[in-house]
Amino acid sequence: GPLLEARSVSRSYGRTPALREASLSVTAGEILAIMGPSGSGKSTLLHCLAGIFTPDAGEVWFDGGRLDTLSDAGRSRLRRTAFGFVFQFGQLVPELTAADNVALPLLLGRTGRRQAYQRARGWLDRLELDGLGGRRTGELSGGQAQRVAIARALVTRPKVIFADEPTGALDSLAGEKVMDLLVGLARQEGATVIVVTHDSRVAACADREVIVRDGKVTDPYAGEVLR
Ligand code: ADP
Ligand code: ADP
Repeated sequence: GPLLEARSVSRSYGRTPALREASLSVTAGEILAIMGPSGSGKSTLLHCLAGIFTPDAGEVWFDGGRLDTLSDAGRSRLRRTAFGFVFQFGQLVPELTAADNVALPLLLGRTGRRQAYQRARGWLDRLELDGLGGRRTGELSGGQAQRVAIARALVTRPKVIFADEPTGALDSLAGEKVMDLLVGLARQEGATVIVVTHDSRVAACADREVIVRDGKVTDPYAGEVLR
């Protein structure tokens, strides 16, 4: 069965409906691109799937269990252990170095300092940030900071990677490398990648693409609402 699923999820902000009975299911190891016009509900859908928002109606399932009915503590534990987030305004701590920022999720878990920093350095290398580990992230360029945020999202080796415009601040070469990395994690390590993007080159890396329109998930080819 699916690893992650939204079943008729609705969510409003005050009186503004953002999702209207949106349904989507994601298979383990799949790379899924979520596209659609601005304001159509993509971010809200991603936040509901990730257990950051609870839906007003409908259900979210992860790994055979309900996610939306978990306690706050249960959902935040899941987010820390099984999910990785690459969001546009990736909350790096600007006063801390790149290595500190990447090591942080491991240090908050049970990993020892030495191993945490060793792994952080490994991920900084993979994102071609070697040499910048000692720099405060507040002093890095937008593209460098975005790659640090990606390293931090991946260091815990999450089962599901949620990415909202992950290549938004990157030039096209750096963007391609980040997508190659995400594709590699899916293919070699079985990670599931859900990426919201406007960039058709990013979507081209995905196994499947859906479009969100007016708070509903549609199949881009059939133009029909998915159930
Ligand atoms: P997308 O990611 O496709 O741009 P969003 O999920 O961000 O769409 O937004 C869907 C709808 O919800 C839009 O009409 C947007 O204006 C509204 N919305 C999103 N966030 C908020 C918020 N914090 N407060 C009020 N309305 C919001
Ligand atoms: P370990 O008991 O060392 O954590 P795992 O089975 O979790 O081993 O990982 C297998 C391999 O991946 C080991 O070489 C380990 O050092 C490496 N590894 C584990 N976690 C990470 C991580 N978060 N980042 C990079 N490499 C990792």
